[in-house]
Amino acid sequence: MTAHSRLAPAAATLVVGVLALQGGFAEHVSLVRKAAEQIAAAGGARVEAVEVRTAAALARCDALIIPGGESTTISLVAAQSGLLEPLREFVKVLKKPTWGTCAGLILLSEQANATKQGGQELIGGLGVRVHRNHFGRQIESFEAGLELPFLGDGARFPGVFIRAPVVEEVLEASEPKGGVSVLAKLPGRVDKMRPGVSQASTKDGSGDIIAVGQGNVLGMSFHPELTTDSRIHVWWLREILRLR
Ligand code: GLN
Repeated sequence: MTAHSRLAPAAATLVVGVLALQGGFAEHVSLVRKAAEQIAAAGGARVEAVEVRTAAALARCDALIIPGGESTTISLVAAQSGLLEPLREFVKVLKKPTWGTCAGLILLSEQANATKQGGQELIGGLGVRVHRNHFGRQIESFEAGLELPFLGDGARFPGVFIRAPVVEEVLEASEPKGGVSVLAKLPGRVDKMRPGVSQASTKDGSGDIIAVGQGNVLGMSFHPELTTDSRIHVWWLREILRLR
């Protein structure tokens, strides 16, 4: 390490891991790289994307993305690879920035409903209970133009929902303590766009919760990694760099 890097840690490369056990990890890596180019072009810090399959690779990371896929498979492979405990430590003890999309949101929740028989191991970190496969089966997948207020640009985001979970309850009194912020809801009108999807909005019409944040943890029901839109990746990376 040079004297310069010791004096100026904020200028160091931000290493962003993508959990690469199953699911859409390659797509996230591409979008992190695209976002990194945009940030660098604007004079921001260097961001490097790496695939994470081992505890050693995880230990190098400053932040982590858990992709969409199949949460039961991801947690099974993580357990077999000795990664479950290091992941829990990364998220809940070291409190490094971690973002889960779809299956990743399920894994980062403290509780999940409609799990396979015998339940499934979760990483936790978000004090919420999710409902898996909330909108039904693969064939009931849909896309919706989402209003994501945190992006702050007023333009809709292409939300891809594939056997997506929703946050059915914020666990106010549960660990970890600290408020869960609801970052986005699905508009109630989605059920008009997709008559086959009977539960696309909550009974009070306010819409299902599809994005939440709590401290270092961020979870989203949909798949930004299956689009070419890097705005959420840029936003998340900039938040991390800002707080560093
Ligand atoms: N419902 C899936 C699960 O339980 C997640 C679906 C997805 O990531 N597209 O893991």
